[in-house]
Amino acid sequence: MKKGDHMKPLFDLHTHTLASGHAYSTLMENIEAASERGLVAMGFSEHAPSMPGAPDPMYFMNFKIIPDTIMGVRIYRGIEADILDFNGAVDVDAAMAARLDYVIASLHPPIISSGTREENTRALVGAMRHPFVTIIGHPDDDRYPLDYTELAAAAARERVALELNNSSFRPSTGRVNGRKNAVSLLNACRVHDARVVMNSDSHIAFDVGDLSLCEELIEETNFPRELVLNYTLEGLEYVLKEGVSLPDCEKLLCSSGK
Ligand SMILES: [Zn+2]
Ligand SMILES: [Zn+2]
Repeated sequence: MKKGDHMKPLFDLHTHTLASGHAYSTLMENIEAASERGLVAMGFSEHAPSMPGAPDPMYFMNFKIIPDTIMGVRIYRGIEADILDFNGAVDVDAAMAARLDYVIASLHPPIISSGTREENTRALVGAMRHPFVTIIGHPDDDRYPLDYTELAAAAARERVALELNNSSFRPSTGRVNGRKNAVSLLNACRVHDARVVMNSDSHIAFDVGDLSLCEELIEETNFPRELVLNYTLEGLEYVLKEGVSLPDCEKLLCSSGK
């Protein structure tokens, strides 16, 4: 890659549909948006059953009927699990995870109240130890203070990606000091060689694949692109369950030529 070449994100794995109970688009509307943005892959990740308004566990058991590729976009089946305690227990079990391509684990206010910085960090590190958890969602919120050094070291060790969440950087976010914390996160990831994944966390189709604020921050902090997973298929593979197939390369060439 020559200096000055614009690298384009290939995928967005944190998106919600109507099924999450507080999101406003259908799966097809989200896929159309992903296709229009030229994404090669999109994952959908509804909130797991503990979240008020989230679907019943049954919802997550029938994803096999959804085609692997729709409108030229490779579709991945995920979930956003809730972290339930400071040991990192989550509301997704192995039977559910077996039907999914990847699992994000996050701290959410309706589910768990903040502990100390040490307890919150222990919760996220504990969540990383579930073999099916591959992404820690929005670790950037002062409603849950974190030790970024410890978090990045654990993420590198456990081979889990830390999320840069585009929604956390919007003025409308309910999260606190998202951008400032993301800078601390990136600094720690750089030191510990931990991987970062950019996601939209869209709750409406317009936001699917919008990673512009994440990219701005990467640019501003001169964060090494090699540690950002979204630019390569190897990066995508890093956060998918072993054995899940990647988008085919021909399609990749087509869409990156858009
Ligand atoms: Zn949500
Ligand atoms: Zn979340």
